[in-house]
Amino acid sequence: MKLVSTRNRALQSSVSDAIVKGIAPDGGLYVPEQFPKLDLSSFAGATELPEVAERLLAPLLEGDGLAADLQTLLNDAFNFPAPLVPLSNTPSPASVLELFHGPTSAFKDFGARFLAASMQKIRRGLDRTLTILVATSGDTGGAVAAAFHRRPGFKVAVLYPDGLVSQRQAQQLACWGDNVQTFAVNGTFDDCQRMVKEAFQDPSLAQSHELSSANSINIGRLLPQMVYYARASLELWRRNGTKPGFVIPTGNLGNAVACIWARHLGLPIGDIVLATNANLTVTDYLRTGDWQPRQSVATLASAMDVGNPSNMERLRSLYPAIDQVRGQVSAYSVGDAEIRATIRRDAAELGQVWCPHTATAAHVYREQLAATAGNQHWVLVSTAHPAKFNDIVEPLIGREVPVPPALAALLSLPRQETRLDANLDALRTALQKDR
Ligand SMILES: *Cc1c(COP(=O)(O)O)cnc(C)c1O
Repeated sequence: MKLVSTRNRALQSSVSDAIVKGIAPDGGLYVPEQFPKLDLSSFAGATELPEVAERLLAPLLEGDGLAADLQTLLNDAFNFPAPLVPLSNTPSPASVLELFHGPTSAFKDFGARFLAASMQKIRRGLDRTLTILVATSGDTGGAVAAAFHRRPGFKVAVLYPDGLVSQRQAQQLACWGDNVQTFAVNGTFDDCQRMVKEAFQDPSLAQSHELSSANSINIGRLLPQMVYYARASLELWRRNGTKPGFVIPTGNLGNAVACIWARHLGLPIGDIVLATNANLTVTDYLRTGDWQPRQSVATLASAMDVGNPSNMERLRSLYPAIDQVRGQVSAYSVGDAEIRATIRRDAAELGQVWCPHTATAAHVYREQLAATAGNQHWVLVSTAHPAKFNDIVEPLIGREVPVPPALAALLSLPRQETRLDANLDALRTALQKDR
């Protein structure tokens, strides 16, 4: 399968090259030139993530360097599960797709781990160390650090805004050491992003370092996200004979586009509903047909605080007309007060503790979908473990959230980070000191 830029279909790339480059030379995002159609019979007997991944991704990687020993790559990338857990006491049959069983307890572990495993394979035989620069507002940096930690041939530099992430997120960013450098930047997330952009254009850094990024528009993070939708939809399709619908907490639309692509490829997926927070760019677009990116506003579901969701460009390249987009997805916005109320109520009534992001999906399911579900089985996509956001969740439910073992292990490690002023000089000096 060839990839093309969303802005110019003549700019072609292999999947491997797109993973290394991240963004197309014209600033567009890489998308498949043409989606193969998969036959459901090709998934016969596949039940575990690595098996489903193989049947799904082999046709997409045909002709690419990643196709050789794909099985080894996928066993490395998908080394933790994404279970479907039935939800009880709800008005209609529903399940939770738990995407938080990876090393940093959020779904971004899937994308980061596949990206790291792929890059390691792509760069096999090269001696020069590749330095991955990543600016993070919370979840991405930890997932990327975990995925590349101690991988030979790679270094990671994580930049996060000091004091602007949760305590446990900060710990997950700073606990690594070895080939991971963590910088607590005296500035905002925008400062961190600007410093990373400037680093890529700096001639002196270009001399001393080979740099790459791992941000969420990299197609190497989207492809693996299709896999858990494939596995979950096949499980429910085999069990119920109907296509399940998915409710997806949405910010930059990466997780949602993966689901839409999986359905486009032929997987048995019914309705796709986006749950957003108080950032209204997506819901306003679906309502008015006008695409109006704006500044983000801060909410309790902070990993979804996006005012200009970049993956919309991928969706619109597949479905150029607004009515086509409306035919693919619907979206509901959920405010902070509703997030709080949902966390409180579902802990009491369903015995289910949500993270603030997952609570948006739970709210949309309860308020918009449950009563009219018919025979559609709804899947609530759970993007992070609530223990990661204990400072928000625990006061609402009035008890402690048990910490999963993977998170507990990271919380017990010493913090290793460097404070950094919010300018390129400071970053250059810090990167060049540690070579
Ligand atoms: C990143 C993130 C989201 C949003 O995912 P997108 O792919 O950006 O839409 C939702 N929940 C959590 C916990 C996240 O970390």
